[in-house]
Amino acid sequence: MIDVILLGTGGMTPLPGRWLSSALIRSEGSLVLLDCGEGTQVAMRERGWGFRRLNALCLSHMHADHVAGVPGLLHTVANAGKTSPLTIYGPAGTKKVIEGLRTIASILPYEVIVRELEPGDEVDGPGALRIRVAAGEHRVPVHGYRFERLRAPKFDVEGARALGIPLEGWAALQRGEDVEAGGRVFRPSMVIGEQRPGVALGFATDTRPTDALRELLSGVDLLIAEGTYGDDDHRDKAITHRHMTFRESARFAAEANAGHLWLTHFSSSIRDPEDWRSNATEAFPQVTIGRAGLEGRLRFDTGYEEIPPSKVLASENAHAEHSP
Ligand SMILES: [Zn+2]
Ligand SMILES: [Zn+2]
Repeated sequence: MIDVILLGTGGMTPLPGRWLSSALIRSEGSLVLLDCGEGTQVAMRERGWGFRRLNALCLSHMHADHVAGVPGLLHTVANAGKTSPLTIYGPAGTKKVIEGLRTIASILPYEVIVRELEPGDEVDGPGALRIRVAAGEHRVPVHGYRFERLRAPKFDVEGARALGIPLEGWAALQRGEDVEAGGRVFRPSMVIGEQRPGVALGFATDTRPTDALRELLSGVDLLIAEGTYGDDDHRDKAITHRHMTFRESARFAAEANAGHLWLTHFSSSIRDPEDWRSNATEAFPQVTIGRAGLEGRLRFDTGYEEIPPSKVLASENAHAEHSP
């Protein structure tokens, strides 16, 4: 299972009532933040998922509206009591930018590891998430991300009992090890079934639709993608600035065979993104126009579902985090 929440939906500049575009993933108690523009730590606090368990920060690209919030966030995470390492992933150029930003956040009680990823790279992230990236097309190098939570193959309990495999050996078989008992050798293949599909979340912002991204994001249960312009008439602008209109983003989601699409990264010229909803739904019906606090859950078997806003107050959570 993966939980995800949208923290903000703004592109270029934060506005009153609209924080910059970013999202937070929760998997097995670990938090992974996607992009961190100015004000993102305030948006995070409003949602109450805490800071201490932030174990990875995935940056799409090195534009201020996606990275300028990093130094402040690093301090806040320190104040929340984090001592274990935090890994920052991003495209080529990330090391230099983080090094610069860290001149104002140099002393921290935890290690910050920066990993520049090449298109096509796949790494093991926190929370049992497989992270894979592909190149987008923007004015600077940009990565789209795929987060996949694999599911353990089914263990055949009846079969294990019928074969007389002692209970103590089951865990070893699930780890892929042979088990010897009563003079017999039991192999994992005797009781472990086929690999089962997991769940996947995609993130693509500040990019034109590209083949590499379509391939990367193929079949994700939920795609969080930019729709910088609502009006179809702004397609030329979208091409010039390497963004997408709502319709282009929705078409892109359909071509990638995504289960559901959340639109985000709205131009500050859009007053109410809901006004342009039909431009997206005409191309792909399963669209939610992003808003801060929009929360989803990706479950094994059933895939994406939208879940009601969390009742936890940010202040209560902040208190809980400081308690022993
Ligand atoms: Zn942007
Ligand atoms: Zn950008």
